[in-house]
Amino acid sequence: MLDLTYSAPKPKVIAGAKGDWELVIGLEVHAQVATNAKLFSGASTLFGAEPNSNVAFVDAGMPGMLPVINEGCVAQAVRTGLGLKAQINLWSAFDRKNYFYPDLPQGYQISQLYHPIVSEGEVIVEMGPGMARRVRIERIHLEQDAGKSIHDMDPAMSFVDLNRTGVALMEIVSRPDIRGPEEAAAYVGKLRQIMRYLGTCDGNMQNGNLRADVNVSVCRPGDYERYQESQDFSHLGTRCEIKNMNSMRFIQMAIEYEARRQIAIIEDGAKVVQETRLYDVDKGETRSMRSKEEAHDYRYFPDPDLLPLEIEQVWVDGIKESLPELPDAKKARFVLSIGLSEYDASVLTAEAEDAAYFEAVAEGRDGKMAANWVINELFGRLKKDGKGISDCPVSPAQLGGIIDLIAKGDISGKIAKDLFEIVYCEGGDPAQIVETRGMRQVTDTGAIETAVNQIITDNPAQVEKAKANPKLAGWFVGQVMKATGGKANPAMVDELVKAKLGL
Ligand code: ADP
Ligand code: MG
Repeated sequence: MLDLTYSAPKPKVIAGAKGDWELVIGLEVHAQVATNAKLFSGASTLFGAEPNSNVAFVDAGMPGMLPVINEGCVAQAVRTGLGLKAQINLWSAFDRKNYFYPDLPQGYQISQLYHPIVSEGEVIVEMGPGMARRVRIERIHLEQDAGKSIHDMDPAMSFVDLNRTGVALMEIVSRPDIRGPEEAAAYVGKLRQIMRYLGTCDGNMQNGNLRADVNVSVCRPGDYERYQESQDFSHLGTRCEIKNMNSMRFIQMAIEYEARRQIAIIEDGAKVVQETRLYDVDKGETRSMRSKEEAHDYRYFPDPDLLPLEIEQVWVDGIKESLPELPDAKKARFVLSIGLSEYDASVLTAEAEDAAYFEAVAEGRDGKMAANWVINELFGRLKKDGKGISDCPVSPAQLGGIIDLIAKGDISGKIAKDLFEIVYCEGGDPAQIVETRGMRQVTDTGAIETAVNQIITDNPAQVEKAKANPKLAGWFVGQVMKATGGKANPAMVDELVKAKLGL
């Protein structure tokens, strides 16, 4: 496999009143598993269904109901682990995390505290050409989501919707390896991208299918390196956790605010209190939600309703064989074998569908030219219409056809753009359109010469100027192109103009 090499970006530094501070960030990302049924029941996970229509007895916490593990959810967690180059644990177990929530009727959440299904992986987070942060993954465990309480539909009552109760989540826990607000957002973006490639989470943040608890602390320059060396957390500052963030922008704003808040506290001679905070979007501040609870507060114990989860290596190997080419490998291949810039490769690999489209266009053609057309013309045009590649009216074969016409010299780059617009709006075979609409480039020297002569005779003053300043020859080229409706071959026009002007 091809690999790109990166150097580590600098951590974000905030200047306090009493010296510099660095940020240390660790994320717990909750990703909703892409499956049709819930983690322990057969109820549907369909988003936007009538409230309380997707609720099995077990989700409603009815007496005597027993959870039954959904193999599909387990497979998705394993698949995600493999995509993050993580260790897959053939033996894992479910625990009860006891707490009361009106939207979690069981009175506890089934999770995996002691023996998660996945541990020790990594994510490469690109921060610009040649720059990337390697973020270690501590674990991924499977757990149930809670439902939704609705407090603003009635002045006197609260409502509850249990459709989401029991839906499978993967909690992906990073090590505190993220060193700034932009890196945190980029990390979430990279996880999202990988899971979308894998098909294990749709990454829809608006629907709450991907949300993050953001842990932030600050330390003095040098302390983080001491932590890395020893893995001793005492070198790091006390962290606060900002709960339930589901927007990249707010994640960054919350981290920035929280870091500055902590710096002010420490520089004031006080201590940061470890706690759970909420980000108030309207005020742009974090505020205390509750003091940090420890694992023992939840009185975790192995769920007696569920046997330990044992999976087989051959089953894991089968999942591994079915993995698609992932973003890092694809991007490296686009850079190292096709010769694209890292930036273009990143744009084209953002989504698997975009990359597949590009590859279909590039097949048997100049890769860089294909990349330019896909990124600048096609993506630009789609964006204008608010469309994505899945509803793109131009097929790879049609775009490839346009590129072929340029390569053969049948049309100029400028005409190609007009042709693209026609194909985009009206469809059709590019080569045929060029013939029927007379768009073919004029390469007939005689015709071009006539046009050049005409412009020269009509503009004696310009001729004198150009003779004194050869740079002005471009003006003649432009005039000839205009006169020929953009169809003259620009290289030939340039040559002829220079010859006639004696430049
Ligand atoms: P909990 O589950 O109680 O929140 P964990 O030990 O699982 O605690 O850690 C949660 C997250 O906090 C992890 O992502 C970890 O990387 C991060 N974290 C731990 N210590 C720090 C720190 N000093 N600064 C920033 N993040 C931290
Ligand atoms: Mg936590």
